[in-house]
Parts: sequence; C-alpha cells; structure tokens
Amino acid sequence: MQVHMETRTAIPEIEEIYKIQQSNFRFVGQSTAKERIAKLKRLRKAILDRRKELQDAMWKDFKKPAAEVDLSEIYTVTSDIDFTVKHLSAWMRPKPVSTPITMFGSSSKIVYEPKGMALIIAPWNYPVLLVFAPLVSAIAAGNTAILKPSEFTVATSAIIRLIIEEVFDPNEVGIVEGGVEISQALLDLKFNHIFFTGSPSVGKVVMEAAAKHLTSVTLELGGKSPVIIDETANIKATVARLVWAKFINAGQTCLAPDYVLVHESKKHQFITALVSQLKKSYGEDPSKSSDYAAIINEKHFKRLTTYLEASLNLGSKLLYGGDCKALENFIAPTVLENVPLDSAMMQDEIFGPILPVFSYKDSNEVTELINSKEKPLALYIYSRSKKNIKHFMDNTSAGGSGINISAIHIGNPYLPFGGVNNSGIGKSNGHFGFIEFSNQRGVMRQYIPSIIQLLLPPYTKSKRRLLDFTIKWL
Ligand code: NAD
Repeated sequence: MQVHMETRTAIPEIEEIYKIQQSNFRFVGQSTAKERIAKLKRLRKAILDRRKELQDAMWKDFKKPAAEVDLSEIYTVTSDIDFTVKHLSAWMRPKPVSTPITMFGSSSKIVYEPKGMALIIAPWNYPVLLVFAPLVSAIAAGNTAILKPSEFTVATSAIIRLIIEEVFDPNEVGIVEGGVEISQALLDLKFNHIFFTGSPSVGKVVMEAAAKHLTSVTLELGGKSPVIIDETANIKATVARLVWAKFINAGQTCLAPDYVLVHESKKHQFITALVSQLKKSYGEDPSKSSDYAAIINEKHFKRLTTYLEASLNLGSKLLYGGDCKALENFIAPTVLENVPLDSAMMQDEIFGPILPVFSYKDSNEVTELINSKEKPLALYIYSRSKKNIKHFMDNTSAGGSGINISAIHIGNPYLPFGGVNNSGIGKSNGHFGFIEFSNQRGVMRQYIPSIIQLLLPPYTKSKRRLLDFTIKWL
C-alpha cells in the first residue's frame, strides 16, 4: 500500500504569494502575445525536460503506465500549448462587431482583457494535465495564477513544483500544496476567477466560496457518463474503443464510460468481445500488467470494493474480473450485470475499473434511465443508424458526446470541453479556455453626434414622433 506524506505550504507563504501577485497582475495583464507565447514555450520545454521524472513520479503515485503518462498527460499538454501558441495573437486581437443603425456614427468591438488573478485547483487523476491545461489558458489570457495540485499525488506535485519554479516568478505563477484545509484557505482569498476540476460535491463548496466575492468559476466536474450500444453497432470497434476509454488510468477518468446500455440483440456478442479484449489488453492476471494503473489510495480502494461487495450481495452477477488486492490498491477490470439501479454503484460516479452492463429492448427505456439521473459529463452512442443517433441526442443532455468513440473528444481543441449543471459549469479547451479566463469587454466608440443628443429631455412632440418612427421602422 502506498503511504502519501502530504506536503503542505505554510499559510504565511500562501499570503505572500497572493500579495505579490496582487501587486503584479495588472502588469502581467498588459503582456503582449509574444511575451505570453514565450512563457508557454518555456513551460513546454520544462515539461519535456522532465518527462522521465514525471513518468517515474506518476508510477510512484499510482502505478500509472509511462505510455499513459505520455499520451494522456504530456502530449495532451504540449499539443494544447502548440495550438495556443499558433492561435493566441488572433484570439487576443479585439474583435470588431456590427452596430445597429439606430446607434449611427459609432463602431463596436469586443476587447479580451484578462480576468486578473486566477486560482486553479486540480484533482489527482490526471495530475499533470489538469494543472497545466488550465494554466495554459490562464497564461494565454494574461492572468496570474496560483496552482493547487491534489494532495494525493505527492511525487507528481513535487515535479510540478520544480517545473513551475523553474519557469515562472511566483509573482505570476505560484504553487501551493496541501489538502482540504489549504484549499479552503485559498478559497477564502478574493480571486478574479477560480478554475476547479474535481467532484460535484466539492464543486459546490468552491462555488459557495466564490459567491462571497462574486468570483466567476469554471467547474470541471464528473458524473455517470453512459454508453449506449444499439442494435446496429459494430461490436468489434465499439469494444476496442470502450476498453481503452474505460480502463485507461484504471477507470479513474472523469470522462470514463460509467455504465453500458446495450440492445438485447447485441448483448451476448458484446460481452464475449469485451471479455476477450480485456484478456488481450491486460492478460489473464491484470495485477501483473505494467499497462494497468492502481487505484489512487486506500480510501478510494475501499469505496470501490464496498460498491462491488454491496452490489454482489444485492444479486449482481460477475461477468469478468472482481479480483481486489488491498496491499497494492489493485482492482481488476470488472464487468457486472444485474446491478440494482438503487445501489450505490448506480447512484454515484463509479470512478474506477468496474463496468455495469444493462440490456434494453426499447430506446425509450434508455433515455428514461439516463434522464432520471443528473446530466452527465459525456454521453456515448455506438450506432450505425442516423435515426437512432438522432433519437438519443434529441432526448438527452450531456456536457459533450462521442458518437462511435469515447473520451477522445476532449482532445479536439476546436470543441468546447466541460459539463452541464451537475457535471460542470463553463467550458475549457483551446479558444474556449482562453475565453473562460478573459473578460469580454464590450466597447463602443462614438465618432459623430449621437442619437442620444436628439432624445434629451424635455420629451417634446417631435422627439416622441422620432421614437414612434424608431419603434415602427428601425
Ligand atoms: P475532489 O473534488 O475530492 O478534489 C479536487 C481538489 O479539491 C483537490 O485539490 C482537493 O484538495 C480539493 N478539495 C477536496 N475537498 C475540498 C473541500 N472540502 N474544500 C476545498 N477543496 C477541497 O476530486 P478528486 O477525488 O481529486 O477527483 C475526482 C473527481 O474529479 C471525480 O468526480 C471526477 O469526475 C472529477 N474530474 C473531473 C474532470 C473534468 O475535467 N471534468 C477531470 C478529472 C476529474
């Protein structure tokens, strides 16, 4: 079992970082695109220079396979930086917009000004990605930032600290380490924007704290993301994509498929293909696989094994897996059927390598079940029928959706990424992240006498006639 020694930043040090950022954020906000790009490139280089250290740290924290670190943490951040570097000058340029004819003699534009001081609070499951991706957007938009990584990935946090201290002066980007108390001490401070990634329950704590200062928030949360596999789906392709998305990081992914709803005509074929793919990907004994992560800590191990035991006691049938080793925080890829809908497993986000499978006859059963729950972060549809896809899309709501794919839609920087209501507020990724950290300042400039001068009180008959004409014709 891994023992995590929490590193904790002292409160006076937090106050000091906050104070120096407070006296510097306007200066940072006036930085040019060239200066921000230079910062992003330095960050990119520092991350790549420490690629091996990051891989080692994440292996130490929760046995995350190096290939998964490369793909889902390092490449995701470096490609995000490359995209931002390419587009930043255009994003920062004020955007001219039209002006109604009634406001003649003026021009209008949107100016993207930095919000100011940003706080970024991250979870443990993608510890590098979820600290650096919001930081890239914060820097791009010209903000200062204080980063608070999760207390559960201590080894990774130590490398993140080295990177941050190497690239930035603390008066522009600072790092604070610690758990709930430290997070709450940060939330007591007045920021201009808080970007939080984590669970919906802590998201509520963050939003309540932000409300005290009317600070804007981006909440990247989680939820139960369903997968629908209809009677027309290509099962071989579905299973390959699903196994990757569900079991990467041992299911500890916000976008991971949470449960599967498969048309009854395809259930047998799906289960057979799923079990065979799991054996192929992780071997007969996945506890020996170096390509399969561990559960982050004892608390989450217990949470997941409790779900599993409770659901088996309530009559669920184990279709595959089920092995758990407390000493290693290991839970095998596990597939279940007949999981009671009122069990904890089907009420909470699973966030682990357990996959309940349900079969359905009628597509309305599917939408009814999905709509009886909170709106998910993602909803996945595997189908070759346009009609079915449209039906499932039109009758559900989700932060994002994958059709014949799962999870990788987050990697398209042209798409907004985020939840809706319980699964999140606000969007990130590429330009959407830049906008999230910017105030879109609407600016109108008058060049010749304005219509308002013709409408000054007293409201004479001719002015009233002008108003009548405006309402009727303009
Ligand atoms: P968490 O909400 O427990 O913790 C996230 C962060 O909040 C940590 O830094 C933690 O120190 C801090 N925190 C915890 N309790 C707090 C409190 N009471 N007050 C103030 N701060 C507090 O989440 P987690 O367990 O680290 O991560 C798992 C959750 O994150 C899942 O729900 C998952 O779906 C979600 N998630 C969402 C995304 C996304 O992009 N939408 C990405 C990854 C994870």
